[in-house]
Amino acid sequence: MKYDVIIIGGGIVGLATALKLTEKMPALRIAILEKENDIALHQTGHNSGVIHSGIYYKPGSLKAINCINGYKELIRFCDLHGIAYELCGKIIVATQQSELAALENVYRRGIDNKLEGIRKISRDEIREMEPHASGISGIAVPQTGIISYTGVAQTYARLFKQAGGHIFTGEKVTDIRNREGQGSEVVTLNKTYEATLLINCAGLFSDKIAAINSKELNVRIIPFRGEYYKIREDRKFLVRNLIYPVPDPNFPFLGVHYTRMIDGAIEAGPNAVFAFRREGYKRTDFKLDELMESIRWPGFRKVAAKYWETGLGEFYRSFFKGAFTKALQKLIPEIKNEDLIPAGAGVRAQACDRTGGLIDDFLILEDAYIVNVLNAPSPAATSSLSIGTTIAAMAEKRF
Ligand SMILES: Cc1cc2nc3c(=O)[nH]c(=O)nc-3n(C[C@H](O)[C@H](O)[C@H](O)COP(=O)(O)OP(=O)(O)OC[C@H]3O[C@@H](n4cnc5c(N)ncnc54)[C@H](O)[C@@H]3O)c2cc1C
Repeated sequence: MKYDVIIIGGGIVGLATALKLTEKMPALRIAILEKENDIALHQTGHNSGVIHSGIYYKPGSLKAINCINGYKELIRFCDLHGIAYELCGKIIVATQQSELAALENVYRRGIDNKLEGIRKISRDEIREMEPHASGISGIAVPQTGIISYTGVAQTYARLFKQAGGHIFTGEKVTDIRNREGQGSEVVTLNKTYEATLLINCAGLFSDKIAAINSKELNVRIIPFRGEYYKIREDRKFLVRNLIYPVPDPNFPFLGVHYTRMIDGAIEAGPNAVFAFRREGYKRTDFKLDELMESIRWPGFRKVAAKYWETGLGEFYRSFFKGAFTKALQKLIPEIKNEDLIPAGAGVRAQACDRTGGLIDDFLILEDAYIVNVLNAPSPAATSSLSIGTTIAAMAEKRF
């Protein structure tokens, strides 16, 4: 059970990192420890399945760099390995005058991020592209695509194992013992492993893993559930591709939108509701210790005090389908309550710092014995190969 590198977490980020490490340093012994009985069962298996273009992110940020590089690499990877995807494009639409300034900012970001082919579109052009959408002005983003990230993650896993890597499922990491200058012991519910370097890709629990040996950790993961509805088969004609609202610049979430999925379904969502447990996929899911941890975190209390109105609105839309439908009707007025069928949820691992900021950018921190991926929300699935390359370069310096 001795490894050069142990990666904690078999989601898309851990798997991409493992694959990049084997490509860069094929002689290393690498293992992934995953607590579930299969890989990709959390954020990676519960998302919108969108290949993001990079239009939203601050130029030069880790999100912008890794999304744009990761996008190109993901497309090449899918072509090489026969993974289905479609670059169907998306539109972002403003439905009222007050959103025009924010729409212009998104467009500027796209230009600054050197996205080719994006263009502003008029009310008539919105109607041409999406005949049932309503908007006064918009942006067309041709390079946005759709994919199944579960399929991508499974391919990363297969290639990693073919290259000699090990994936151990049902291995929940419960403790890490740092052996001064001699690597670490990683304790799971079943065994103890040894590793020279640890890489923490534990998603919703990445702060917990990081906190085992770092008492001064300045970040906590706050879980935000994103709930989806599917559009009834006979009403799918209302959406051709992807239709997004103008995002609220104060939040790291994109607002409820319509997505044509790679399997042909049309989904509406996700909202962003504070979850009462980290893997709380249902409205009624609740875990007292996890809820208290969030509430006790000073940063969360500040976020709650600042955005309580938005937060309550999200709870209301979560519990009352009519309110969710109303938000969707801004984009497609014809959509009705009865067109929407509940379609599950995902939970975002959103890092929040002590002073009350929801951390916008990806956050990867290095320590003597561990690399901690502490914030890898959307678009980390799109960016996974680029994040993997970044972490593999950090790891290479250690060997
Ligand atoms: C609702 C929603 C919509 C999204 N839409 C998109 C999108 O359209 N496009 C996009 O690019 N991104 C999207 N994202 C973001 C994307 O899904 C995530 O950024 C990405 O999946 C993060 O991958 P990960 O490997 O870091 O985390 P995860 O997939 O959550 O993997 C972490 C793994 O660590 C394991 N783990 C945790 N604790 C332990 C432990 N103690 N021991 C062992 N294993 C442990 C977990 O079981 C899990 O398998 C979305 C996310 C959500 C939630």
